[in-house]
Amino acid sequence: MTIRNPEWIGRMALQFEDAPTEEILSWAWERLGPDVAVGTAFGASGMVLLHIRHQVAPDMPVFFVDTSFQFPETLELKARVESLYNMKIEVLEPEISIEEQDVEHGLELYNRDPDQCCWIRKVEPLQRKLRGLDGWVSSLRRDQSKSREAIEIMELHMASGSGRRLVKVNPMANWTRKQIWDYILEHELPYNPLMDQGYTSVGCWPCTRSVGSDAGEREGRWAGTDKTECGIHTFLGTSASSANEIADREAEVHEAVE
Ligand code: SF4
Repeated sequence: MTIRNPEWIGRMALQFEDAPTEEILSWAWERLGPDVAVGTAFGASGMVLLHIRHQVAPDMPVFFVDTSFQFPETLELKARVESLYNMKIEVLEPEISIEEQDVEHGLELYNRDPDQCCWIRKVEPLQRKLRGLDGWVSSLRRDQSKSREAIEIMELHMASGSGRRLVKVNPMANWTRKQIWDYILEHELPYNPLMDQGYTSVGCWPCTRSVGSDAGEREGRWAGTDKTECGIHTFLGTSASSANEIADREAEVHEAVE
């Protein structure tokens, strides 16, 4: 299909480089719907994206990966969003519970091998979902971290285990942190109350720290380690060769889990 052609995705990325988020989302729904969905963890950018989705593509499905390590505040925010936009958010779950993980891999795997823990609790459930989609919309921004500064408005993503190609859509790639918070305040959007306590990004409680509102946006995640990403967004590529590299890398991580 045309939409899985890497060259075509590259052309679309250039075409939409300066387009408003509303236009990109509308295009994604018209061109990729109904098999396109927003993935969110209810961060600040996600709150803006969900608001815009409600305006221009209210039928676009939304999903969330529940690792069972979420802060209660995050789950409360999810419920609030569902009520605000009168929608149901699909919850993706790992194949094993925390208790089963403790038995199979030992206690506190997140301290000993966070990549393996993230694979089990985040990446694998997401990849299972992506195998049935043509498009995946995220709220990643280039200014969030060094590892995200080169993201494109649209990218090729390979769903693990199926080889299925889909379009990763990053309609907020050009937004800045200030623009996000200006938008949240202007539209009086809900956001995670932990962000008023110095959490600049909120993930799983074992791997998230309060670092103060002036800190870098991702500094409180896996603080004190080299890890900067859970793996959900790093298995990306815009060419067939990088797609192969991605598959190899996924296989390596998966092998370590088996
Ligand atoms: S962020 Fe931490 S607790 Fe959550 S899945 Fe990754 S390693 Fe496990």
